[in-house]
Amino acid sequence: MTRLVMLGKQGAGKGTQCALLVKHYGIPHISTGEMLRATVSEGTELGLQAKAIMDVGELVSDDLILGIVRERLAQPDAQLGFLLDGFPRTDAQAQGLMAMLAPSGIDVAIDIEVPDNVATERMLARGRADDTPEAIQRRLELYQAETEPLLEFFSSQGVLVSVDGLGTERDVQDRVIDAIERNR
Ligand code: ADP
Repeated sequence: MTRLVMLGKQGAGKGTQCALLVKHYGIPHISTGEMLRATVSEGTELGLQAKAIMDVGELVSDDLILGIVRERLAQPDAQLGFLLDGFPRTDAQAQGLMAMLAPSGIDVAIDIEVPDNVATERMLARGRADDTPEAIQRRLELYQAETEPLLEFFSSQGVLVSVDGLGTERDVQDRVIDAIERNR
C-alpha cells in the first residue's frame, strides 16, 4: 500500500516527478488539474465554468474538487495506493481527504522545494494555455496563501518530507524515492 500526496508549488517539477513515481510504485496518478482539463475538453456547462476559473489561475470550488477526487478514489485501481497531484490545495480539501481516507490517512506527503523565480521560469517554458504571466503570478500567490499552510498540517500528521527540487530530474527522483522509503 503506497498512498502519496505530491505538494510543491506550480513549476516545482511535480509533473515530471509524478510520472516517474507512478511507474516506480505501480500506482495510479490522480491529478486534479488533468481531470479538470478532461472535463473542460468535454465542453459541458461544468467544463466551461471550470475553464473560466482555470484560465485566470483561480481555484475551482472545494466541493467540485472533492466530488471528483471521491469518485476517483473509489475506483478499483486506487484501492492499493495512489499518488495525488495538485490536491489537496486548501485546508477544506485536506480535511475532506482525511475524512475520505479515515481511519488510515496517507503514508507520505512530498514537498518539492524550488525558489519562486525558478518555478516561474519553468512554467513560462512549458507554455500551457493557462501559463500567462498573470495567471502564473496568481497561482503562486494562491499557493502561498492556501496551500503552503498544508505543509504544517501534514507535518503535524508526521507524514511530511521536504525535497530539494533543484538539479536534474534524476537527482530529484533519487531524493524523492529515498525520502519516501525513509518515512513510510
Ligand atoms: P498547476 O500545477 O500549474 O497549478 P494543475 O494542472 O495542477 O496545474 O491545475 C490547473 C488549474 O486547475 C489550477 O490553476 C486550478 O484552477 C485548477 N485546479 C487543479 N487542482 C485544483 C484543486 N485541488 N483545487 C482547486 N482548483 C484546482
